[in-house]
Amino acid sequence: MPFSAALRRLALVALAGLASCRAASDAPAGPADLVVYGRVWTGDSARPWAGALAVSGDTVTALGDSAEIAELAGPDTRVLSGGDGLVTPGFMDGHLHFMDGGFQLASVDLRPSNTPAEFIERLAAYTSERKPGEWIVGGEWDHERWPDAPLPRRDWIDSVTPDNPVLLYRLDGHMALANSAALRLARIDRSTRDIPGGVIVRDRRTGELTGILKDEAMDPVQDVIPSPTEAQRDAALQRALTHAASHGVTAFAHVSVPLAELGAYLRAREAGTLTARAALYFPIEDWRRVADTVARIGRGDDRVWIGGVKGYMDGSLGSTTALFYEPYEDEPTTTGVLTTLEDSMRAWIGGADSAGLQVVVHAIGERANGLLLSIFDSVARAHGEKDRRFRVEHAQHLRREDIRRFAALGVTASMQPYHAIDDGRWAEKRIGPERIKTTYVFRSLLDRGAILAFGSDWTVAPIEPLLGIHAAVTRRTLDGKHPDGWVPQEKISVEEALRAYTSGNAYGVFAEDRRGKLAPGYLADLVVLDRDLTRIPAEEIERAAVTATVVGGRVVYTGR
Ligand SMILES: [Zn+2]
Repeated sequence: MPFSAALRRLALVALAGLASCRAASDAPAGPADLVVYGRVWTGDSARPWAGALAVSGDTVTALGDSAEIAELAGPDTRVLSGGDGLVTPGFMDGHLHFMDGGFQLASVDLRPSNTPAEFIERLAAYTSERKPGEWIVGGEWDHERWPDAPLPRRDWIDSVTPDNPVLLYRLDGHMALANSAALRLARIDRSTRDIPGGVIVRDRRTGELTGILKDEAMDPVQDVIPSPTEAQRDAALQRALTHAASHGVTAFAHVSVPLAELGAYLRAREAGTLTARAALYFPIEDWRRVADTVARIGRGDDRVWIGGVKGYMDGSLGSTTALFYEPYEDEPTTTGVLTTLEDSMRAWIGGADSAGLQVVVHAIGERANGLLLSIFDSVARAHGEKDRRFRVEHAQHLRREDIRRFAALGVTASMQPYHAIDDGRWAEKRIGPERIKTTYVFRSLLDRGAILAFGSDWTVAPIEPLLGIHAAVTRRTLDGKHPDGWVPQEKISVEEALRAYTSGNAYGVFAEDRRGKLAPGYLADLVVLDRDLTRIPAEEIERAAVTATVVGGRVVYTGR
């Protein structure tokens, strides 16, 4: 590097603010390994915008204008150009079911079925290619797409699946349709009693099982499905990673991951094929085994990190199992389902917190959120001050008085904006016009000082962060019925949504000092988008695409 370039590099690094101390002392001697040109949104309030950046190894070393950065490039430097698009820190997905996604990518997809007949046709086509006896697990069906929204029944599918046991999930994963063969293997029949924390749906007239199992009632069927082999898990993980990279997801939190899936992540890290950074949250009831695992192999690193544990307070709005104080409008006999007893949840959260594990818990209905915030509060008081970063997963429906408790208690709201434009189609019929006013309150949470961490909940919703940003900014429901936004006062800006997909999630996994921003010394995780989200009309965001994804300085995806 010529002397003047070296001087300029030092000046650039010094200009870049606080984080520069680290970069200056580690400044690599040779040219950059990668330079990226384009309008760079850094996520760094000290320097929000730049025209280019340089990367050495896995780390961002400099930001500047394109002429300044060009001087850091050598003959072997890889160059990415953003053109008229936008360069942002890599998207971090704060809540998804990654391995399920990998399996789902190779299974039957019922999401596009707009009628029961289509649902049956798609399943029949898939089943005809399977061997007799082979389990068929998949789904993503959504009865809210169908005329009058009837729940599917096993007699619809028994004739097309006589030789295969079948379990098909609603896209929210909170209920599933089992065919008769699956119910037989699970030994569930009309004499089986209801299961605590779940519902076995029966025909109102005949008392016969319809095949629909909600929440904990899915367990007996899940328990008889053979576990996948190591090779099947590895293949599912690779499918999921390829899919994630193509949508700019450079890191994610896999929640409710069974301990048995840890090995697949460790093998991928070892093989160098893990193209996104994984934070893992295991079932909270297993917290002792998780603590033992951490004692044995450590907490991990920025590639695979054992974050902690995940629990469930309630079900979902779509399955009428989210827990409210008042009954459902369209099912006045129920207020939802408390899927974990309050005392068990308090004991588990307390145990996990004492063991140094981060605790994240699913709560959707108002009462589930209120109860959970109180448990978080009481555990934190009992155990004393500590950087514990409790998270509420979903935080969908909040009483007004609970909104400010997030910031007050230091609890992160881990939310999935796509759910808002999906549920927004039918939420009002379920909970009425009053309760929807405090639904998916992105604006109110930010205004009251809460940290928002966005994610997809894939496979419940598509993994695409750009669709999530579009949803948070426009709140336009999928049915096109709310062109100005559903509960529009809760819209947020593009930059706020970007922050929730980057620094919000970095904070969520204790990595805000090295991820979630593009600044010298930070890990070089970034995406290049084909258009500048901050300069296009909001309704165009959903048409934006990722043109390159970089994780730790390595280009893991390039597209159109
Ligand atoms: Zn989820």
